Amino acid sequence: VPICPSFKATDDLRLSPKGRADGFRALERTDLPKSEKLRLEDDLAQSLDLCLSCKACAGACPVMVDIPEMKSRFLEVRYATHRRPIADHLAIALEGLAPFILRVSGLAAPIYNLLRKPIGEFAGLVDLPAMNVWAGLRKAITVEQARQRDWAANTVFVVPDAFTSLFDGTAQAGVAAALTALGYAVQPVALAAGPKAAHVRGARKIFEKRAKRLHRQLTQLSTLGRPMLGFDPAFVLMARQELLPFGAAVPLRMVHEFLSDELAAGKIWPRAQGRPGITIALHCTEASADPAAGRTWQRVMDALGFEARIAPTGCCGMAGLFGHEAAHQSMSRTLFDLSWKAVSETENATATGFSCRCQSARLGRLTLPHPMTLVAQALGSRDD
Ligand code: SF4
Repeated sequence: VPICPSFKATDDLRLSPKGRADGFRALERTDLPKSEKLRLEDDLAQSLDLCLSCKACAGACPVMVDIPEMKSRFLEVRYATHRRPIADHLAIALEGLAPFILRVSGLAAPIYNLLRKPIGEFAGLVDLPAMNVWAGLRKAITVEQARQRDWAANTVFVVPDAFTSLFDGTAQAGVAAALTALGYAVQPVALAAGPKAAHVRGARKIFEKRAKRLHRQLTQLSTLGRPMLGFDPAFVLMARQELLPFGAAVPLRMVHEFLSDELAAGKIWPRAQGRPGITIALHCTEASADPAAGRTWQRVMDALGFEARIAPTGCCGMAGLFGHEAAHQSMSRTLFDLSWKAVSETENATATGFSCRCQSARLGRLTLPHPMTLVAQALGSRDD
């Protein structure tokens, strides 16, 4: 229970993984009158509305209760008879259209940036981030094109997810510049529409269609034998976990996992001068999926010449779209204040997750870069 952000913010057991699991169990009873069943369903829907789908419970639960997966299936049934919020349609459509929008981002970005406030108001969303696309994505090739070439031994494929690509080009540029400074040839590979928003929002048919295609593309890319990296922990973990029903696990890695493996293989990189300090705040999904993630980051940063400290954070209160929903502002801010406010006031603090950087930009004092952006700066490398 203590790891659940909605419980942490409210102290309400109904808003904990156990409370929600009890709600699902109660609904399974077949001896209930219809009116009681409808009441229980409404109660569960309210409780799930405040679940951030952060997966902290799924990582910690010994009996593998996965509330986000159960929520996704519940919402699919619920929205067969109830109206789906406009924000859901927007997020699912945006992820679906992202490959096209990225191709015309020179035109789309100024139009969206002009309209994002009214778009948000229409959909019940606040503080939508500006569109900010990494120029390096212009070099992106398709999986088919990647398969038609031989690749140098130092090639690293980066597979940009929809939301980091549309709104956090600065982080993508930082990661690419750091990898370049370390001697890797970074090649972005454009993928088809991602399935994340559809999964979280219970649009299962769309999720399955997009997930199957993504699994096929990542599997094909992996046969080329080069490392495949995602920019955002939530996207990488989604690809590794939610695509499993569609075939073998895909070998997609986060940048610190890749660099840690390289280090273990004896790689030596240029180092930052003067042993600068850096504070790293992990995405909560990353930290709960791998309790050793902080130590891995520290080992990698140590090899790069940094003195790294891992900030003791929980969920930042953003979790994809959750923190942008007008109805969730109170909980979102409470969660941010619990541990992220202090991070956002720390010099040289960084965040590994897109959601967390986005939340800090709107509620914190400092804009948090990705840790690799500081590596790129220390090594004098740019990719913009
Ligand atoms: S997904 Fe996160 S917010 Fe939802 S029940 Fe699990 S721990 Fe709580």
